[in-house]
Amino acid sequence: MIMDNFFSPIPRNFSFTFTQGDADLQRLGLSLANALSFRDEILLFLEQTDIAESSEGIPVLTFENIGYKDEEYGLNVKEDGIAILASCGKGAHLALECLREMFIAYDGTIPCFSLRDKPFFSHRGLLLDVARHFLPMDYLMKLVDAMSLLRLNVLHLHLTDDQGWRLDIPTFPEIARIGGSRRSPVNGQPPTESLFYSEDEMKALIAHAARRHIEIVPEIDMPGHMLSLLASHPELGCKDRVYEVETRWGIFEDVLCPAKEKTYELLEKIIAYVSELFPSGRLHIGGDECPTASWRKCPDCQRMMMDRGLQDERQLQGIFSSRISEIMGRYGLSPIAWQETADGDPEIKPVLSVWFDSSRTADYSRRGYDMLLSVHDDGAYLNYSPDTDIDYGPLYGTNTLEKCYFMHTDLPAPGPGRIVGGEAALWSEYITFPFEASHFLFPRLAAVSEALWIGNGKRDFYGFLKNAGFLEKMLENVGIYVKIVL
Ligand SMILES: [Zn+2]
Repeated sequence: MIMDNFFSPIPRNFSFTFTQGDADLQRLGLSLANALSFRDEILLFLEQTDIAESSEGIPVLTFENIGYKDEEYGLNVKEDGIAILASCGKGAHLALECLREMFIAYDGTIPCFSLRDKPFFSHRGLLLDVARHFLPMDYLMKLVDAMSLLRLNVLHLHLTDDQGWRLDIPTFPEIARIGGSRRSPVNGQPPTESLFYSEDEMKALIAHAARRHIEIVPEIDMPGHMLSLLASHPELGCKDRVYEVETRWGIFEDVLCPAKEKTYELLEKIIAYVSELFPSGRLHIGGDECPTASWRKCPDCQRMMMDRGLQDERQLQGIFSSRISEIMGRYGLSPIAWQETADGDPEIKPVLSVWFDSSRTADYSRRGYDMLLSVHDDGAYLNYSPDTDIDYGPLYGTNTLEKCYFMHTDLPAPGPGRIVGGEAALWSEYITFPFEASHFLFPRLAAVSEALWIGNGKRDFYGFLKNAGFLEKMLENVGIYVKIVL
């Protein structure tokens, strides 16, 4: 029986068909006996869905390894049992999350259906800016659950910026203690003291995410947006002066000095620590919005330019990026960076986060850069206003739900560099509390998730809208309470 108000999973792309009958999951129960290779996923699943194992031990949940690729999965829900088709834990996890959505939408009795699906992009992310405003760890845990439910697989944490440093570096405790505090009010906000994540907290988040096949990619934004580090380590700046954690929003002239050895010595220690803490193997090194004014006035920077025969200060950023990438390489980390980094033409090419100018993808591709799409005015920036009719104040732009859903993923990439995925972004200049973050994230994050899942395939906005009506209930299940406005 197919009804118009029936929920079908978000995101989905390929074959999905309701078939005859309903599966009463309470009556069926679940058995783990034949699915040992997927134990972790199933245990997690049971823990989260509160469905007890069948007392008869009837194996109604069966797993078939049928040679699907990585995140590809299938589901066959029949009145007498459920078959999950996948070739590895990742695929099984996605199938289980899909089932969980169905359980929540249908309260334990789900219509029978069959599904076979796989994502278009392997990198489907969310960037969270926890630097401008700190978000508590228990909220990050819930967001990871919500991401898992929506089949997103990368949480990109923007951990540092001019206005805050949010990761403790145990051998340099002053960095987060000073960098995580703000002296005076920002836009009417009270001063904050030492708001950062400890090593144990971050480890717990990483483990929580790993169980859901979500990778956490940390971002240490450099060489610009670094006042929160200069506040405790002024010797890394171009000027001999005291720096403070910034209390205004914007782009600031004071950045790291690329000509001082001390800069690389400290950054190497931070990078070494990050490589130990995060299993990702990738580090986002920012590289955006870095003014060159302080380099122009700095004797060390000018000497370096003379020695190397550089004409333009921008080339110093190329040298900086290459040096950082080379250090990262020694610690097994590969770089991701904002698209400005390509202007300095670094020898080691990072994956580029394309955010302000999507007309350059063909050029980047020809030059061999892989790319992630986070285009601010093409549905990716979720801190932008969701509604053209509501005045949210200074939010820079508008990304409606429809715009997010139709985010462009088919940008030209004619060279060796490819578009490998995309990320929604929640910048937090004007987002102070978790409930505000939820208001801006949902339902648009689900739209971005489906856009990245379907990629260049055919999207169905009205179908999505119908399913998005169930999001409030989905999110309640992971402890996020938000009014969904469609
Ligand atoms: Zn300098």
